[in-house]
Amino acid sequence: MTTFSFEFFPPRTAAGARTLWDTIRRVEALCPDFVSVTYGAGGSSRDRTVDITRRIAAETTLRPVAHLTAVGHSVAELRHIIGMYADAGIRDVLVLRGDPPGDPKGRWSPHPQGFTYARELVELVRSLGDFTIGVAAFPERHPRSPDWESDIRHFVEKCRAGADYAVTQMFFRVEDYLRLRDRVSAAGCDIPIIPEIMPATDVRQIRRFAELSGATFPEDLAHRLEAARDDPAAGHRIGVEHAGAMAERLLAEGAPGLHYITLNRATAALDIHRTLQASRSLSVS
Ligand code: FAD
Repeated sequence: MTTFSFEFFPPRTAAGARTLWDTIRRVEALCPDFVSVTYGAGGSSRDRTVDITRRIAAETTLRPVAHLTAVGHSVAELRHIIGMYADAGIRDVLVLRGDPPGDPKGRWSPHPQGFTYARELVELVRSLGDFTIGVAAFPERHPRSPDWESDIRHFVEKCRAGADYAVTQMFFRVEDYLRLRDRVSAAGCDIPIIPEIMPATDVRQIRRFAELSGATFPEDLAHRLEAARDDPAAGHRIGVEHAGAMAERLLAEGAPGLHYITLNRATAALDIHRTLQASRSLSVS
């Protein structure tokens, strides 16, 4: 069975919150397997992650997955947050290390009473109760990994520490996902790796995301989006078409699900999802 799911982020403004809740209600109508809420880099955005995740659990029929990062937290604080989620009936956590706040590419230093790697947080969450745990996977390897061998070795260690599944970083070439899956499988690990689908509809925005995440942005797609720079409807069409074709092929290659980045609007993700649903039910009948 393939899963489908959507990712939100904690909005900063009241208007952003209204947009998010409007999107949540539209997504809810599709009965996804889960929705996830990213964890902010620090301060109030972290409290907003906790609030939104708890509200989704309390006020919707959706299954919320709380992202949680180790960066900037002591182990005691992490225990407290996990306890708050458990109290709210949330049993799904996407466990991450996080990046240095301010400059994601800057020097990484752990909290003095905290963790250095996501694996340690996986072990903590696993020790605290019956949680379903997701972890991050990187189709073009983690930007800080010196080579593939160590990247895969540490990924497999993180999975064996207690992860149930992984979700990938955004990527734009299906082959990168397939090669990652082969490498993980060759290392003896058969954890489901859910590809993250990022519809690329705006060239400026997507170049920034790709730069931050280390994902390679294909030049032909960039050129097509560049040509549609002043025509948002055309950009939307190009992004939906490209991501839709990727999603179709990933499912044909046996991907266990699709996790859509929504940027809290979900228009492109919903268009892709509906097209996929239509073509897959047509091909089944
Ligand atoms: P880790 O698994 O700890 O890996 C980090 C690096 O350390 C890798 O290079 C790894 O190979 C290396 N490593 C691991 N163990 C060892 C070891 N024992 N010795 C030496 N090296 C080791 N960030 C946020 O701030 N909030 C979010 O909500 C968020 N959501 C995300 C969701 C997804 C699906 C993904 C893919 C990423 C997300 N991120 C988020 C970004 C993530 O926090 C960063 O990419 C971070 O740099 C890596 O996190 P990780 O959990 O993969 O770290």
